[in-house]
Amino acid sequence: MKTRALVLFSGGQDSTTCLAWALNRYTYVETVGFDYGQRHAVELDCRPAVLERLRQIFPSWGEKLGRDHVLDLSVLGSISDTALTQGKAIAMEQSGLPNTFVPGRNLLFFTLAAAIAYRRDLHSLVGGMCETDYSGYPDCRDNTLKSLEVTLALGMDSPLIIETPLMWIDKADTWQMAADLGGDALVDIIRKETHTCYLGDRTHIHDWGYGCGQCPACELRAKGHRAFATRTA
Ligand code: ZN
Repeated sequence: MKTRALVLFSGGQDSTTCLAWALNRYTYVETVGFDYGQRHAVELDCRPAVLERLRQIFPSWGEKLGRDHVLDLSVLGSISDTALTQGKAIAMEQSGLPNTFVPGRNLLFFTLAAAIAYRRDLHSLVGGMCETDYSGYPDCRDNTLKSLEVTLALGMDSPLIIETPLMWIDKADTWQMAADLGGDALVDIIRKETHTCYLGDRTHIHDWGYGCGQCPACELRAKGHRAFATRTA
């Protein structure tokens, strides 16, 4: 049963690592991305380039890689007032969450992914959510996704598994996972082709990839890469 998967693939470091993880594990893999009016919509442009490079460098993965779905979720941008969907400064809210939190985002993503999976006969949904060194988003937590897994399986009356291979590891381990799965070639694809920066900066290249180097997403990615590089030096 666990042979066909759908990966929530944004074009970022985490979801690209998850895609490699899934291609290493399943016999057939499709991908889905969401256009929700994110300021860093440049990550959507990275998706085809990442898929193309994976096909080129890893032909055995390319054979397993099926259809790529992109869904228009602009409604999410229009109903949310966040620093990820509006042109405002990133700051902490009174709730203790940064204003980059898009309420309901992962709940919607997985629900729509489950609908695609139902139609395409895919049984595992794979996402790069993590609650180890994350921004505190409650819809990235393991308990939330466990609960959602049960709800979706009940609501579709169909067996469905949510897999989150990064849930209990930090960013350094995520770089390490990529190195273990695809060696330097995969690490290089992640560095050059994936996008993480909240501000959508693709003009500055660093050891850890493109980005402004200042926003929380860049800081996390850079810090993880430093720890990973120290470990492998
Ligand atoms: Zn940045």
